[in-house]
Amino acid sequence: VSFGFTDVTPDEKVSKVKGVFRSVASKYDLMNDLMSAGVHRVWKTFTMDRINPQPGEVFLDVAGGTGDLSLAFLKRADQKATRYGQHHLKTQAIVCDINDSMMASGRERKEVLQARGELDWVCGDAMALPFKDRSVDALAIAFGIRNVADMDQAFREFRRVLKPGGRYACLEFSHMTAGVLQSAYDAYSFNVIPKLGDLIAGDAPSYQYLVESIRRFPKQDEVLRRIEAAGFKRVDCTNFSGGIAALHFGWAV
Ligand code: SAM
Repeated sequence: VSFGFTDVTPDEKVSKVKGVFRSVASKYDLMNDLMSAGVHRVWKTFTMDRINPQPGEVFLDVAGGTGDLSLAFLKRADQKATRYGQHHLKTQAIVCDINDSMMASGRERKEVLQARGELDWVCGDAMALPFKDRSVDALAIAFGIRNVADMDQAFREFRRVLKPGGRYACLEFSHMTAGVLQSAYDAYSFNVIPKLGDLIAGDAPSYQYLVESIRRFPKQDEVLRRIEAAGFKRVDCTNFSGGIAALHFGWAV
């Protein structure tokens, strides 16, 4: 089954991706927990370990959706501020997403109302970020880069808005490194995920898109090379759950 993403132009991809996330927005957090049995939270925790939030920093959460990473950033910065007496420093997290429905769903979360620090929601495209050069201390994109029509343009944008010395983290579904579990993973992703999508969100095609887009996404080494080509330094890659997801991390100069 194909959701029709194979031969589309970048403009068509942008509008199809918008449709997918408009459709899944209200059930997005629940589906994430169900599909990954909650493991996406562990991957995001590791991502925040690498980002290492500091009080007083500006964090940009590109394709931030309902704001998971931004909330984690503010929470960790607040814990450090408490430990080191730094509450005079104002920490800011910005969720930037192309899709208003995803952000609207995020704004309703109770954790958002309880967040300490500044949390902003900005509608914008990863390929043309509405932020100044060298304006953010750390930038992350979780499960977003796969949906961006021109990934290399997005990497260049990430580098442009990061301050020299800024940290960059990219968490994305990837490719399993050990062949033994591949057939079980294939069976799960091609059969179970679209059925779950149908059952919970009433939308199998959007979840079929998710599975297809993971297959088409480049392997770990190629992503690393393309992040370096955008000018990031000391880029590394950590596989999670045997490569089901991978975290690329690098530094802006
Ligand atoms: N980062 C969140 C998380 O980890 O839960 C949300 C990830 S969700 C799978 C992907 C998000 O990417 C959607 O909210 C979608 O609207 C957004 N998106 C897709 N293309 C984008 C683009 N070109 N620029 C910014 N956001 C984009």
